[in-house]
Amino acid sequence: MKIINPSTEELIKEVQEDSSESVQKVYEALKKGQISWANQSVDSRIECIKKFKEALLEQIDSLGSILSSEVGKPLNQSGNEIRGAAGRIDYFVDNSKEILSTRTAVKEPNLEEEVSFEPLGVIANISAWNYPYLVGVNVFIPALIAGNAVLYKPSEFSTLTGLEIERLMHEAGVPKDVFKCIVGSGDIGQQLLDLPLDGYFFTGSHKTGQYIYEQVAPKMVPCQMELGGKDPMYVSNNNDDIVAIAKGAAEGAFYNNGQSCCAVERIYVHEDHYDQFVNAFVEEVKSYPIGLSTEENVFIGPLTRENQIAVLENQVADAVDKGAELKLGGQAIDRSGYYFQPTVLTNVNHDMEVMTEESFGPIIGIQSVKDNEEAIALMKDTRYGLTSAIYTKDKEEFRSIGKHMNSGTVYWNCCDRVSANVPWSGRGNSGFGSTLSEEGIKAFVRPKAWQMRF
Ligand code: NDP
Repeated sequence: MKIINPSTEELIKEVQEDSSESVQKVYEALKKGQISWANQSVDSRIECIKKFKEALLEQIDSLGSILSSEVGKPLNQSGNEIRGAAGRIDYFVDNSKEILSTRTAVKEPNLEEEVSFEPLGVIANISAWNYPYLVGVNVFIPALIAGNAVLYKPSEFSTLTGLEIERLMHEAGVPKDVFKCIVGSGDIGQQLLDLPLDGYFFTGSHKTGQYIYEQVAPKMVPCQMELGGKDPMYVSNNNDDIVAIAKGAAEGAFYNNGQSCCAVERIYVHEDHYDQFVNAFVEEVKSYPIGLSTEENVFIGPLTRENQIAVLENQVADAVDKGAELKLGGQAIDRSGYYFQPTVLTNVNHDMEVMTEESFGPIIGIQSVKDNEEAIALMKDTRYGLTSAIYTKDKEEFRSIGKHMNSGTVYWNCCDRVSANVPWSGRGNSGFGSTLSEEGIKAFVRPKAWQMRF
């Protein structure tokens, strides 16, 4: 498989893809390895994970540079991602043991009832390229701590990072027959669906997620879907510093070139603030340095996948055809690499794909609304349900709008953030099940009830 640098379109490396035979062998090894891993104490498993985290931080420069060169993420954002992943690992290291410990439900003279938690077995972790460390650790860290073996399938666009993660895991003491990275495209992912695995944990697009869910359903094993979003943001008329809000919104929309599952994907602004917001937003986006992902201080690098350029061009053409105003950008940048101009569209509405379909790129529509009711109706007008952001000075106003949002997360005066302390979950086309927090640890175990009469 050829690994291409999206900043330059140059070949970085060729790697050997797995085959159906090699995947089968890996599965058989993991099936055996999982038993002894689960028999180790949780403390010894956590020790390996701590070493993995230390190595991530020690090798952050080289890991960041590999990540930037293969997915096109600017270097400082790669560093942020790896540090963020280390922080999430801390959460799992600090909390898993207690959450996984056996608890007594009832203790009476003649009756005791307990709940213990057992690992699922060998699980598939089919992962996305946009934050391979962050979305990876959400799954493989709690899965390993709980005593599972992990068959890890990174996206073909983050293969080198996947192989680095595997190397660091093994160096940290996680046995080779407990964590294994397989290399290949969606076809190799398909092999995992044919294996009798004990759980499927998928991060990726709605389209692939729906397909995998259909394939896996007859196996009757846990299946979890962390899918895309069309995340709305609303600025009510109850705000003072519109320029600061516009700057924050621009970062929420364009960080990682808009290739974040929880990127701000559509913005609604109360008509009282609309013009000021749009002007400040456009000025902010114009200031973003564009360049090679490996250059210092670049904020906008290339898209990771060449074919996303056509998706963005189509969204722009569709919006402009239907009456949108192109305030900034709108086309691919004429240079080598998969670059697209940061793009701002106004005078948009929900007949346009840019306001209804995931863009996953540096493009945003900003729509004026007359009141909170109109904002709520538009924010809810989606099949997705990952996050919703509401900006207002008034917490009560936030809560009165937030309770209507059919999304796994609501943000007050912030956006595009993930915290390990609370569940990360989608609704509708954004998927189901939770990663992170207590829920995201329990996702990797099955409860066993012990009902004991004396
Ligand atoms: P894809 O759905 O294209 O791919 C996801 C993974 O599935 C990749 O590893 C891919 O392999 C693999 N795959 C593709 N086809 C199959 C198949 N038939 N069987 C098994 N595996 C398969 O998503 P992207 O990688 O493009 O990720 C971007 C999407 O992920 C966006 O929609 C984004 O919003 C979402 N996402 C959601 C997150 C969340 O927490 N909710 C977090 C991060 C991203 P390959 O790439 O090699 O083809």
